[in-house]
Amino acid sequence: MSFSELGLIPEILKAVTDAGYTEPTPIQRQAIPVVLAGHDVMGGAQTGTGKTAGFTLPLLNRLARHASSSTSPARHPVRALILAPTRELAMQVFESVKMYSKHLPLRSTCIYGGVDMNPQIQELRRGIEIVVATPGRLLDHVQQKTIALGQVEFLILDEADRMLDMGFIPDIRRILALLPANRQSLLFSATFSDEIKKLADQMLKNPQLIEV
Ligand code: AMP
Repeated sequence: MSFSELGLIPEILKAVTDAGYTEPTPIQRQAIPVVLAGHDVMGGAQTGTGKTAGFTLPLLNRLARHASSSTSPARHPVRALILAPTRELAMQVFESVKMYSKHLPLRSTCIYGGVDMNPQIQELRRGIEIVVATPGRLLDHVQQKTIALGQVEFLILDEADRMLDMGFIPDIRRILALLPANRQSLLFSATFSDEIKKLADQMLKNPQLIEV
């Protein structure tokens, strides 16, 4: 099985080739068609399985199909939100997003706590389609009205079990309340405790279960 059989557009296949990947990993084989078809996903996968490309590639594919050619920031609302528990993980995911979107006209940024908000505010003003964020700093931007989430079409929660361990679930619930109900959502977690299942019930609609 090759990446080209999964239904990805040429710009994304080129980035995959540039990355040196020859074939999709098991989670990528399972997740890519399901996400492309527009389903919500509950994914059980550890780091190292290729899960980041598993959700990023089809997400970019869906965003690219309806990309705005305008250069006006007002015409580039945040369309995809990827939440990660730590700054390190957010930065890793952001690096992947940049790498896989390098042949696409999509703008992305990464926002996390512990640093000055101003450079992040400047970035957000450029008009950014894809935001990778840690929950607390994202809510700081919401409160300061430097980000608007009313047009988010895609939500990805990465490492939900670590979010839970770090006490971020109340923040996640606050963020969920700000998002349009009509969206595609993916939740990834290494384990599925009752608490994670409860969160999944609130966040996902008819999710497809993917486990590797
Ligand atoms: P992840 O589980 O998403 O953190 O990915 C683990 C590592 O596998 C990353 O360094 C990726 O660059 C790499 N990787 C992801 N997909 C593939 C693939 N299909 N072939 C080879 N390496 C990959």
